[in-house]
Amino acid sequence: PGGAHETDVIIIGAGPCGLFAVFELGLLGAKAHLIDILDKPGGQCAELYPEKPILDIPAIKSITGEDLTQKLLEQIAPFEPKFHLSEMAVSLDKGEDGRWLIETDLGTRVTAPVICIAAGGGSFQPKKPPIPGVEDFEGETVFYAVRKRETFKDKDIVIAGGGDSALDWTLNLEPVARSVTLIHRRPDFRAAPDSVERMRALANEEKIDFHVAQIKGLKGSGGQISAVTVEAEGKGRYDIPCEAMLAFYGLTMKLGPIAEFGVNLAENRIEVDTEKFETSVPGIFCIGDMAWYPGKLKLILSGFHEAALMSHGAFHYAFPDKKLKFQHTTSAKGLQAQIAR
Ligand code: FAD
Repeated sequence: PGGAHETDVIIIGAGPCGLFAVFELGLLGAKAHLIDILDKPGGQCAELYPEKPILDIPAIKSITGEDLTQKLLEQIAPFEPKFHLSEMAVSLDKGEDGRWLIETDLGTRVTAPVICIAAGGGSFQPKKPPIPGVEDFEGETVFYAVRKRETFKDKDIVIAGGGDSALDWTLNLEPVARSVTLIHRRPDFRAAPDSVERMRALANEEKIDFHVAQIKGLKGSGGQISAVTVEAEGKGRYDIPCEAMLAFYGLTMKLGPIAEFGVNLAENRIEVDTEKFETSVPGIFCIGDMAWYPGKLKLILSGFHEAALMSHGAFHYAFPDKKLKFQHTTSAKGLQAQIAR
């Protein structure tokens, strides 16, 4: 994270539509950077249904959300997209040279003549745990995502939740932290069975602690947590001392900072024309689930089509002096050589 970058097109959102946009832009010689608050590409496919089969991708009988993401990544690899993951695009400004500057919450700055918003249903944001007073510790010693493992080095940490994130981070932070205590309100989990098994093995070896309990409150002051108060059947209330807590209570999608980018909104989405998928602001395009126009269908295949037309519109901002030459991939010799490399 951090640093200043320049590119042809900044794509906000690395869901399936943002990913395929890299290919369509690449065909026309435009490079792209992608920004996503998730720690992985794939948007809803990767986060909400990685293992579910999708049946309406043209010419593919059945493909899971995760496999579709992998295949899109393979397809766009020759165009060398740059990913800024675990970063939220928070501000948009226009420079004196007419180019756009996007800044992320981690201070990364990317400049480009074109913005493509492929933000889907909005940015994935963590659901807050219903713990009284939790906001006093947020961002100091209570976190909803791991941005740097180092933050937890040699610390006594509590991890709350019963899904894949809670389990994965329990396994990943066990070697880093001084101690890890996992708290879940039920003995069973909504996570990959393999992760649950590995967690239970660590608990049996006493390398981590696992409590079936409800979190009732937090102790500490000045943003520094000192203990989590829990209640468990047969045990009553007790404190688990800790220096940091990670809570994974799932994610929701919110429009977020894009609402302030100055483009016309319609029904909490972004209004676009259906010729170029450009918004009310010249040079800012929008494709995928976030785009609104009469008859829009929130389907991956619609977003792929939108990516192709957007790229043709974006080309004229990226290369104002060049003439766009339309060609089929079957006859694009330069492209075939690039992909073969
Ligand atoms: P998304 O996949 O929503 O990705 C957008 C990304 O943008 C997200 O990762 C988000 O974190 C990121 N983002 C947004 N704002 C910001 C910001 N400010 N900064 C950083 N990152 C940001 N469609 C089909 O065609 N066929 C199906 O069978 C099908 N099944 C589905 C099943 C389920 C359970 C669900 C939930 C959806 C299904 N869909 C299906 C719909 C499909 O997943 C969406 O149409 C598709 O994901 C839209 O892609 P996208 O790239 O527009 O957005």
